[in-house]
Amino acid sequence: MRFSKLYAPTTKEAPKDATLPSHQFLVRGGFISQVGSGLYNFLPMGKIVFDKIKNIVKEEMDATGAQEIQMGVVTPAELWKQSGRYNAFGKELCRLKDRKENEFVLGPTHEEVVVDIVRNRINSYKQLPLHLYQITTKFRDEARPRFGLLRGREFTMKDGYSFHEDETCMKKEFALMEETYTKIFTRLGLDFRAVDADSGAIGGSGSKEFMVLAQNGEDDIVVCQKCSYAANIEAAKRAKKVTTIEAPQADLSKFKTPDMKTIEDVCNFLHVDSFYSIKAVVKKAIYIDSEEIVVFFVRGSDELQEVKAINACGAIDLIDAELEEIQKVGLHAGFIGPVGLECVKFYIDFELKEEKNLVCGANEEDFHFVGVSMFNFKEERYADLSAVKAGDKCVCCGEELYVTKGIEVGHIFQLGQKYAKAMSATFLDKNGKSQPFYMGCYGVGVSRLVAVMIEASHDERGCMWNKQTAPYLLDIIISNPKDEAQSIYALSIYEALKKEKFEVLLDDRPERFGFKIKDYELIGFPYALIVGKELEEGLVEIVERKTLEKTVVKKEEVLDVLRNLLA
Ligand code: ATP
Ligand code: MG
Repeated sequence: MRFSKLYAPTTKEAPKDATLPSHQFLVRGGFISQVGSGLYNFLPMGKIVFDKIKNIVKEEMDATGAQEIQMGVVTPAELWKQSGRYNAFGKELCRLKDRKENEFVLGPTHEEVVVDIVRNRINSYKQLPLHLYQITTKFRDEARPRFGLLRGREFTMKDGYSFHEDETCMKKEFALMEETYTKIFTRLGLDFRAVDADSGAIGGSGSKEFMVLAQNGEDDIVVCQKCSYAANIEAAKRAKKVTTIEAPQADLSKFKTPDMKTIEDVCNFLHVDSFYSIKAVVKKAIYIDSEEIVVFFVRGSDELQEVKAINACGAIDLIDAELEEIQKVGLHAGFIGPVGLECVKFYIDFELKEEKNLVCGANEEDFHFVGVSMFNFKEERYADLSAVKAGDKCVCCGEELYVTKGIEVGHIFQLGQKYAKAMSATFLDKNGKSQPFYMGCYGVGVSRLVAVMIEASHDERGCMWNKQTAPYLLDIIISNPKDEAQSIYALSIYEALKKEKFEVLLDDRPERFGFKIKDYELIGFPYALIVGKELEEGLVEIVERKTLEKTVVKKEEVLDVLRNLLA
């Protein structure tokens, strides 16, 4: 390709809302353009990168025996009503009507459609297992579309769905997908971890996320310093917390604690370590067609983990409760405790179970209890609620945990029979009995990966593509296109490499050298060949983008050197 013909509108200015390097450089480098909030177009070079990533995903998926299909973006709402997700999915689901008032959704994920594809067509265990996948457009009306391709509203996902006769077979495919995703992200040259995850709106049991370790990640991941344990903070476990600080011995009694509404105030006043106190977090839980005030109790030294809390109460979402709403249900803000609490639904962190000598609110203005023991609560009250912190101990090996940032690039789920049951998708098993399918589903954020490649590899000048994903491997820059010798030599190298099927770009634009080298650094091809004045002495320069190191090479030796570098 000649740069003079390439549509790559590079700019000096980044969009105002672009805070991350991948967003800035993909727009400035002419890879993508924005048409609306969370809506992006891929320009020629962006499309090349996108296709390269897509091909790697496709090659690895095909190698597992999964079969590629293509499902429509527009889906009848009826299917979503059958699964129960039409209401449960919340505002991310874009719902629309046609001219006849029929309801549809724009597919944010395709479990419903794929179940419809196989139900009544696969009737026997003999036709199982089956894995269908696609690499297509998704639409999610994200609350905060941002960071360019990292969180769009329209984006491309590889989504695969597998069908099985039993749990064992489903787990086998899950393991195969874990292995396959590992191959995909390794081929892309990314530094990643597979972590235990929460299953979110997709549902089901065991799920794992693939996280690329990156400073600008939106996810907090908990990693063990010693063993292989790693989890999204939303699902992270820890060894039960203990302390060497002695418990304050006291019989159950009520203390006047006037105006002391925070845990710190109360603990300071009573000379108790916050480990021995119970903190109440009041939230408004949003359900499909109702809402209610719910209280979550965690240790004073812990924080509530919101996703865990959502899972505990089965809500779609939790929002902060207004003081007025709290008072209205009969709670005394600042003095709420589990003992004798009856006016609201509440949950207690499971690490508090059977603990003694605790301090908590007495559900009476200006009073706290001391000497509280946690023995008399029903089992259903307890749930894993607290957020794991750096320095907590690993649930597997007891070593210290640390917290780091990650970007989710893939998510694999064991769905079990959830969708097949809800949508009456069954087959006849070995004993001739009708059974709902066991399913798994597996997603890769293909368009997100374009941005992740840059988050993982850039400097202050621009992108640094690796050879697996670069739009072109080499940029041949003619320093002065008016110099005939430079042009002729550059063209000969360009033609020779093209003949050998190397992906090369010839920067033949009638621009100053400084402008062209800036574009090279911004776009970030792995190598550049600079054909300049020194050609008169038979010399040219090769630049490596990663290091910006320059090597002077004799013009006769250039082809051999480049063949080695680009291979
Ligand atoms: P997130 O927590 O980042 O919103 P998710 O859990 O909603 O992701 P999944 O439903 O598991 O995502 O979708 C599979 C993959 O699709 C994700 O791992 C991610 O790489 C990608 N993805 C999800 N939402 C978006 C988005 N808004 N823009 C781009 N890619 C996305
Ligand atoms: Mg999401």
